[in-house]
Amino acid sequence: MQPPIRIPIYQPDLSGNEKAYVNECLDSTWISSKGVFIDRFQGGFAEYIGAPHALAVSNGTVALHLALAALGLGPGDEVIVPTLTYVAAVNAIRYVGATPVFADSEAAYWQVSVADVAARITPKTKAIMAVHLYGQACDMAALSDLAKAHGLLLIEDCAEAFGTRIGKQHVGTFGDIACFSFFGNKTITTGEGGMVVARDPALHRLALKLRGQGLADDREYWHDVVGYNFRMTNICAAIGLAQLERAGDFLRRKRVLAEGYREGLRGLPVSLHGEAAGTTHSYWMCSLLTDDPAQRDPLRRSMRAAGIETRPVFHPVHTMPMYAAGQSGLTTSVQLASRGINLPSWPGLGEEGVRTINEVIRGHFAKG
Ligand SMILES: *Cc1c(COP(=O)(O)O)cnc(C)c1O
Repeated sequence: MQPPIRIPIYQPDLSGNEKAYVNECLDSTWISSKGVFIDRFQGGFAEYIGAPHALAVSNGTVALHLALAALGLGPGDEVIVPTLTYVAAVNAIRYVGATPVFADSEAAYWQVSVADVAARITPKTKAIMAVHLYGQACDMAALSDLAKAHGLLLIEDCAEAFGTRIGKQHVGTFGDIACFSFFGNKTITTGEGGMVVARDPALHRLALKLRGQGLADDREYWHDVVGYNFRMTNICAAIGLAQLERAGDFLRRKRVLAEGYREGLRGLPVSLHGEAAGTTHSYWMCSLLTDDPAQRDPLRRSMRAAGIETRPVFHPVHTMPMYAAGQSGLTTSVQLASRGINLPSWPGLGEEGVRTINEVIRGHFAKG
C-alpha cells in the first residue's frame, strides 16, 4: 500500500480574485462564451506577452488544432515536431490530416534539436512546430532562420511556457502562430482553457472565424467555411483574468523552487534542468535527470514512499502505438526520457516544501 500523497506534483493557487470574478459571471448570467471576462482576459493576456491580440479557446489541444487549421495545413503536408513532447502537439497535426515528422532533442536543455529539424526537411515539409518544453525556450532565432530559408511556417506550442522569455521577448511572439494551455497544472489556469496568438491580423481573423463555426462577416447565421466551436466560457475567462493578475508572483515563487532544488541537490548523481544563457526559464516543471537511467525509477519509488508525487519526463511520442510505425532512433530524446523526473513545481510549495523534498532525495542516495 502506498502512503497518501503529502506533496502533489501540482496544485493551482486560486486564492486571488478567482471566486469574486466567477461570482460576477454567475450574477450577470453571462456564463457561456459571451461576456466581459473573455475580452478582458484576451486583452490582458495579449498585453502580458506583448502580442497585438489573442484568442481564448476551450483548451490547449484545440488551440493547436485551430492554429494548424487556420494555417491551412492538411493532407500531404509534413510538420516537423519534437518527439519529446506532450502527445497533444502531435495529435493536432493528425487532426488536420497532416503528417508529423519527429525530430530529436538537444541534450543540454531538452529542446528540439535545430540541426535535426534541418536534416528532416523534405519537399513536403510545410511547417515546424517548436515546443518550449517544461518552461525552457527553444532556439527561436535558429528556427526562424531555418523556417525563412525554406519557406516554412513556424508554430510555437507555449503550453508549458507561460512566462518564458528569450531576452525580454515572451515566447509565442516569434513564430507565425502560438498556442497556450490553461489546464489545471499549467502556470496560469482556467480549469480547461487555451489561447491562440497569431502574428498576422488576417490569420487572427481567420482563427477567430474558425473558432466560432465559420460565421460569415456580412450575413447573420451564414457559414461559408467549416468551422468549429472552440470557444472559451466567460467563467473560465474570469478565472484566467484573476490568474493573470498574479502571474508575476507565481513565476517568482516558481523560480525560488528551482533555485532551492539546484542548491539542495548539489553533489548528487543528478542534474537539474538548466536555464540557457539569454533566456528566462519559467519553470513550469522543475525537472532533473539521474546520471544513470537505472537510478530513475528507484528514486521515484523512494519519493512516492515518502508521500511525494513525481512524474517521468514525457515518453517520446514516436514510441507510442499510433505513431510507432514511422520513425526510430531519436536517441537523445529516448535517453532524456529514460532519466528524467518532474518534481513538485507549484507556486504554493515554498522553500520549506523544497527542503523536505531535497532531504528525501538526499536520504535515498545516502542509502545507496
Ligand atoms: C498541456 C499541453 C498541451 C495541451 O493542453 P490541454 O489544455 O491539456 O489540451 C499541449 N502541448 C503541450 C506541450 C502541453 O504541455
